[in-house]
Amino acid sequence: MEKLGFQRCLDRLLQAGVRVDVITTDRSPSIRKFMREQYPGIQHQFDPWHVVKGLKKKLTVAANIKKNTDLQPWLKSITNHLWWCCQTCGGDATELKRRWTSILHHVCGIHRWEDDDGVERTCYHQDLTEEQQKRKRWLQEDSAAFKTLSEHILNKNLLKDLNQMTLFQHTGALEVYHSSMLKYTQKRLHFFYSFMKARTLLSVMDHNENVGREQATTSEGNPRFKLVYPKQSKKWVARKIYEPTTQTFRTDLVERVLERRMDPTVKLKDPSSSVQQPSTIPANIAAIPRPDKDQAIEEHVSRFDTR
Ligand SMILES: [Zn+2]
Repeated sequence: MEKLGFQRCLDRLLQAGVRVDVITTDRSPSIRKFMREQYPGIQHQFDPWHVVKGLKKKLTVAANIKKNTDLQPWLKSITNHLWWCCQTCGGDATELKRRWTSILHHVCGIHRWEDDDGVERTCYHQDLTEEQQKRKRWLQEDSAAFKTLSEHILNKNLLKDLNQMTLFQHTGALEVYHSSMLKYTQKRLHFFYSFMKARTLLSVMDHNENVGREQATTSEGNPRFKLVYPKQSKKWVARKIYEPTTQTFRTDLVERVLERRMDPTVKLKDPSSSVQQPSTIPANIAAIPRPDKDQAIEEHVSRFDTR
């Protein structure tokens, strides 16, 4: 279903003449294969958020094993590092991988080293003070924790995926759209196809009206923030407050409906506007036929019969 929906949407955009240079998705194997085989001319990128999340999960599991507990204080820096590498590699996959693997030197307290090709490399951070160098809990190169970390950092699949993360594209805006879509198409309610379509169109109009809002400012002109406490990070963080949303598209829509109603050239009984309902929706999702009600009641009573 996911692949089919993806294919239909993409074909529709292309048929409408939209030029698609890059598509960003998660790392779903079926979509990867589909893009590679059907659209080799379109760049396929992976959302770093999904990749970072996956890596974080794997490293957390590894760091909870007794021999690897030295990894625990490093988890946050390592996942931040992956994020930073994608952001700063300038679209260059070789540079991205060089930055990423450099962490294996850094975690051992080595910030200057010679690469396999004899070139001298350094970490990308500013020089550490003697105090910082002394205080940090560096890993030992011959420790089990370091060995485990190397396996994760140099994991073949991850290094391969990095080739498709060079543009630092993430799908956060899509997640925002999905959450605003829920306002129109609640998952707990059933809508017929035509209603679903109309409601989805409304959610798109709402989104388009409000996407790209500026950060709100105080009366003195300073940017506004709020403090939030996300369950995941368990840390208070500042978040931007944006200008309030507007829904002027609704008024425009009502006006246009009224205009159309007053227009004598528009036929009101236009058959193309009548709602078609699919007639084959089953009454329930049960895989076996409905039993006789009296019999079901009898069985219900006997289950609770304590005599
Ligand atoms: Zn370093």
